[in-house]
Amino acid sequence: MHIESPFQWRGTINVPSNESAIEQPLPSLIQLPESLNEDIRMILNKVLSGERISTEEGVILHDKCDLPTLSNVANFLKQNRYGNSVFYNRNLHVNQTNVCVLACKFCAFRRGLKASDAYSLSVQDYLDRIAPFSEIITEVHTVGGLHPEWNIEYYEGLFSAFKNQYPNICLKALTAVEIKHLAEVSNLTISETISRLHNAGLNSIPGGGAEILVDEIRDIICRGKESSDEYIEIHKTAHQLNIPTNCTMLFGTVETTLHRMIHLDKLRKLQDETNGFQCFVPYPYLPDASRLPEAQLATSNEILRMISISRIMLDNIPHIKAYRMNIGDHISALALLSGADDIDGTVSHEEIMHLAGSDAPLDHLDIDLATLIESVGGIAVERNTDYTQFRNFRRQNPPDNNGLPMISI
Ligand code: SF4
Repeated sequence: MHIESPFQWRGTINVPSNESAIEQPLPSLIQLPESLNEDIRMILNKVLSGERISTEEGVILHDKCDLPTLSNVANFLKQNRYGNSVFYNRNLHVNQTNVCVLACKFCAFRRGLKASDAYSLSVQDYLDRIAPFSEIITEVHTVGGLHPEWNIEYYEGLFSAFKNQYPNICLKALTAVEIKHLAEVSNLTISETISRLHNAGLNSIPGGGAEILVDEIRDIICRGKESSDEYIEIHKTAHQLNIPTNCTMLFGTVETTLHRMIHLDKLRKLQDETNGFQCFVPYPYLPDASRLPEAQLATSNEILRMISISRIMLDNIPHIKAYRMNIGDHISALALLSGADDIDGTVSHEEIMHLAGSDAPLDHLDIDLATLIESVGGIAVERNTDYTQFRNFRRQNPPDNNGLPMISI
């Protein structure tokens, strides 16, 4: 069934003529190296002529194409769409609880209900966490564990208190597995659960929990979590309810390249149907305090390869994010030359990746992000949560969250 979607991405190439805020230099033409293997050349020529490539072709590119060529092609596609613009937002991560009934092997964050360092924020604690940042952020990102005692009423109370206190801040919250858990605990359908959360103040849904969308891999790394079909179904339901979502991939555990390409293919098939994904966020497994000794551990080369191939395979998902909380500032900067057009924002507080080994700085202001973006020739463009408003970073941008006086592109 084809779903008429409200999420028609309005390409950033067509900038309204009365706005000079977004600069869009045309990309220079790309020349493939003479020495390129014929199979790889054929696949890249397909990519450059706008044709979709198959999962098998994705595997060949991922495994056999040299990184500079792969990354140049991905960067060319990114430039074609957005020029030198790189998007970021001013956000804050707040985890409502680390208590979780599951125990995914890669997870260093979850705690049992009775653990000495388990926490569950009260509504007031949650609001207090946001208060110091409330004048300078436009989004709160909230995900956490699957709390055995919190049901839909708890989240409705939390979200409506949030919206009451911070009506100008967007709420991006709850991964697919949290929504599934909440539906089960509250004896509701997925659609009822998302609708009630939305009515209480939920604006968009993050992509976490996708891991690898192949059940035999999920069975090893996150047994008990939602199945790949359920992940797709939950996001599809959100899209049908006009709620935009992101999608992710956790790579570098026990999967093969083919599993990664199957994952990308499942996402782009749903996107063909609903057009509700805004952003894809690929990030590698981090090993500290987790329980996967058999994991592969991605190198920098592999991280940049994954970001490049994501831009190439996901021809219908507009944004590819460099998730600096996971890959750090240095690789994020290189990712912006390998097809990523978006970088996770000011963040201010983050636990999940830092408990697993990340040392990405948390104290970035938008000026630090702009400096990082400019260091690789990018133009820093602030966006809102659902990528409908944008403004170029100016060193004198006022730190307000009362709606960005921006343009639609
Ligand atoms: S990844 Fe999420 S669902 Fe899995 S154990 Fe950690 S908090 Fe729980």
